[in-house]
Amino acid sequence: MDMVTTRMDDAKNAAERFASYVTIAGDPAYGLILLCDHAENRLPAEYGTLGLPPAEFERHIAYDPGAGAVTRGLAERLGAPAALTTFSRLLIDPNRSEDDPTLIMRLSDGAIVPGNHRVDAAERQRRLERYYAPYHAAVEGMIDRSIAAGVIPALVSVHSFTPLWRGRARPWQIGILWDADPRLSLPMVEHLAADRSLLVGDNEPYSGALIRDSMYRHGTRRGLAHALIELRQDLIADEAGAAAWVDRLAPVMADLNALPDIHEIRHHGSRTGPVEPL
Ligand SMILES: [Zn+2]
Repeated sequence: MDMVTTRMDDAKNAAERFASYVTIAGDPAYGLILLCDHAENRLPAEYGTLGLPPAEFERHIAYDPGAGAVTRGLAERLGAPAALTTFSRLLIDPNRSEDDPTLIMRLSDGAIVPGNHRVDAAERQRRLERYYAPYHAAVEGMIDRSIAAGVIPALVSVHSFTPLWRGRARPWQIGILWDADPRLSLPMVEHLAADRSLLVGDNEPYSGALIRDSMYRHGTRRGLAHALIELRQDLIADEAGAAAWVDRLAPVMADLNALPDIHEIRHHGSRTGPVEPL
């Protein structure tokens, strides 16, 4: 194949490919790296709507409403690097391990996902290779660049949770989820709870000790300080709400970034069991 043909093929492939993540470069030496595993509700065209009514893509089963806007806002305000996925978690969930039975959901909060019913090993591998793995490789690259720039980074993962769960209202505005490394998460809870108008969840609405999730992969296994922020979806559903939370969280993040011990590699293990070596 000559050079011109190769270049044309590359361009065609690139146009057909669905980039599985976006990054905000930021300053690799800033000290914090932001992650958003569930930023978007889109699917590559070849998957249609996975057989679901389009309205299902407006719900939390497809993504974390508001989390992308808060992540982008914080990255821009702080000058921190960030990585955000561009595909719906219904395609494949980047916040699960490769062998987790809920990696590709067949049933999610009452909705049957027809396009996921006959996913065989080859299709599962395809989704892993095209969508899941490139995002995680991008996060690894960001961490490596920070270390190369002379700073051990701490990781902040941004998610959002539904105000109602099984008919019960969740009272927290924000929750900080963590497993065994308290270095970033506990000071974050304390800082936020200093605002008496907030009810801050410490491992609420659910525990952050999830088997081999994204924070385990990038934080626990590498010995990097990390915390997962869960924001209540009704508070960040529109631009003004997301911007208000960026205003509230940015100074907290900047203060926490000054803690010296979050910029050291320390292995705290996991409440979920023995930690696999990298
Ligand atoms: Zn999420």
